[in-house]
Amino acid sequence: APTPDGGVAAEALAAALAAVESHEQELGRLDAVAGDGDHGQGIVRGLRAAAAAARTSGPGDSAEASGRALLLAGTALADAAGGASGALYGLLLTEIGGGLAAAGPVPVTAKLLSPSVEAAFEAVCELGGGTVGEKTMLDALAPFRGTLVEHAAAGAPLAAAWTAAAVAATDAARATADMPARRGRAARLGERGRGHADPGATSLALMASAAADVLNA
Ligand code: ADP
Ligand code: MG
Ligand code: MG
Repeated sequence: APTPDGGVAAEALAAALAAVESHEQELGRLDAVAGDGDHGQGIVRGLRAAAAAARTSGPGDSAEASGRALLLAGTALADAAGGASGALYGLLLTEIGGGLAAAGPVPVTAKLLSPSVEAAFEAVCELGGGTVGEKTMLDALAPFRGTLVEHAAAGAPLAAAWTAAAVAATDAARATADMPARRGRAARLGERGRGHADPGATSLALMASAAADVLNA
């Protein structure tokens, strides 16, 4: 159902919030395996603030309107969530938001979105000092971005490209269970982290899938 006071970006963030809320305990348990157990709480708190902020940005589904909503959301998320993932998710949203906002009052297409997602991926790598293969959210974000760009280049509509990207992120998040931890708090666990998926990769896949549902509705 459309939100009364926000555009498609606000609606996607509301759906993402509902998805992480229903997995809050699981995300906390995954983070407790190798980290401090707060990822469920942190991401729910952050997305609550992000979804509320996006709703204040007003209606409209254009790149400009969506970008404005994501800029507000990312700032609110980083402020509210705290932790490593709060800063990284906040930056992810503000980078995508900044790219979309600069495009002006045009429709959001897969082709338009691709460079913003690429730039956001690079920015998140840089801020965290991380790269793929370290059992973090980057292991879900990298295939999300790669699949989105690939489908966009092939001329896929936004909903189809985003959906394929969300499926790739979900598969990749599951596959992090087979990886040893190398980054963040989890790194000191190393090989003992095997067998459990990374919480950040898992939450990213949940959010991307929830947004796909909104784009397909
Ligand atoms: P904190 O580790 O500060 O308690 P969270 O528990 O909310 O933060 O988030 C942990 C998640 O953040 C990890 O599962 C991982 O996916 C991600 N993460 C942590 N540090 C980094 C980093 N340097 N680069 C990329 N992702 C990271
Ligand atoms: Mg934690
Ligand atoms: Mg913490």
